Amino acid sequence: MIPPAFDYHAPRTVGEAVALLGSLGSEAKLLAGGHSLLPMMKLRFAQPAHLIDLNRIDSLRGIREDGATIRIGAMTVENDLITSPVLQARVPLLPEAAALIADPQVRNRGTIGGDIAHGDPANDHPALSLALDASFVIAGPNGERTVKADDFFLGLYVTALAEDEILVEIRVPAFAPKTGWGYEKLKRKTGDWATAGAAVVLRLDAGRVSYARIGLTNVGPTALRATDAEAALLGRALDDASIDAAAAAAMAICDPAEDLRGDREYKTAMAGQMVRRAIRAAAARAQ
Ligand SMILES: Cc1cc2nc3c(=O)[nH]c(=O)nc-3n(C[C@H](O)[C@H](O)[C@H](O)COP(=O)(O)OP(=O)(O)OC[C@H]3O[C@@H](n4cnc5c(N)ncnc54)[C@H](O)[C@@H]3O)c2cc1C
Repeated sequence: MIPPAFDYHAPRTVGEAVALLGSLGSEAKLLAGGHSLLPMMKLRFAQPAHLIDLNRIDSLRGIREDGATIRIGAMTVENDLITSPVLQARVPLLPEAAALIADPQVRNRGTIGGDIAHGDPANDHPALSLALDASFVIAGPNGERTVKADDFFLGLYVTALAEDEILVEIRVPAFAPKTGWGYEKLKRKTGDWATAGAAVVLRLDAGRVSYARIGLTNVGPTALRATDAEAALLGRALDDASIDAAAAAAMAICDPAEDLRGDREYKTAMAGQMVRRAIRAAAARAQ
């Protein structure tokens, strides 16, 4: 299928891209890796008259350490996350989970910024960013603002990004010593989106959970932060009872759409299983 005709723009700076967004208005769409946008255009779900290609803006790519914060340019592709020594050492959940996204072709072009900005609860980075306590730097006509991942995902394909704004950077706190992590993703086959997924980051202090963040993939209209599940773990030892309590609390907030991956009951049950597995994986690494 061929998408409808559009005008193509290739700015070299974020300022130029923001100015183009301002002048072209709602007729324009940003193009990153194109792996979500182009399929939507081919299916006529999106028919932008203008595409503003971010691929020539060098400042939007790369992974840098800034003290205890890791700064990731929005146009950094999945493969660069997977192979980044900085991420492997300081936020190992990200490269490990990025390797579970789609297939090598998609990971060569698909960007972390596009994955987040798309606002698709089936994408993996939204739940990962909730578990990682990430923040997003957004550029617009009035300069930059920063939004926590907790406040970014507003509804199905709806985020805190305004029409004239660009996600420019993802900021992730580096893991403190003895942080454990896990991302469990149930999928029908390699290259598929999650039937249900769970991202867990936790720390233990004298055998009890002192820190926990849990994000859920594809079991609601947005990625979900499972705060009650986190509360079910905090201050407790990790045993069958506390892990079951966390899984039950996570399942209680699931509101998945029924589709070919399964019905609501199945997806909710699988979310519980993914939470259990991700907690156990994180616990083993936190020792
Ligand atoms: C076969 C297949 C399997 C896939 N499986 C998975 C999977 O398992 N997990 C997963 O997470 N993803 C999956 N994806 C989606 C893939 O990761 C996409 O690359 C991703 O959703 C979008 O990133 P992109 O860079 O391609 O963005 P694009 O498709 O170019 O853009 C997506 C949307 O975000 C907007 N946008 C892009 N960048 C910015 C920015 N910097 N600021 C503001 N708005 C922006 C665009 O305007 C557009 O609306 C799959 C895709 C395919 C084709």
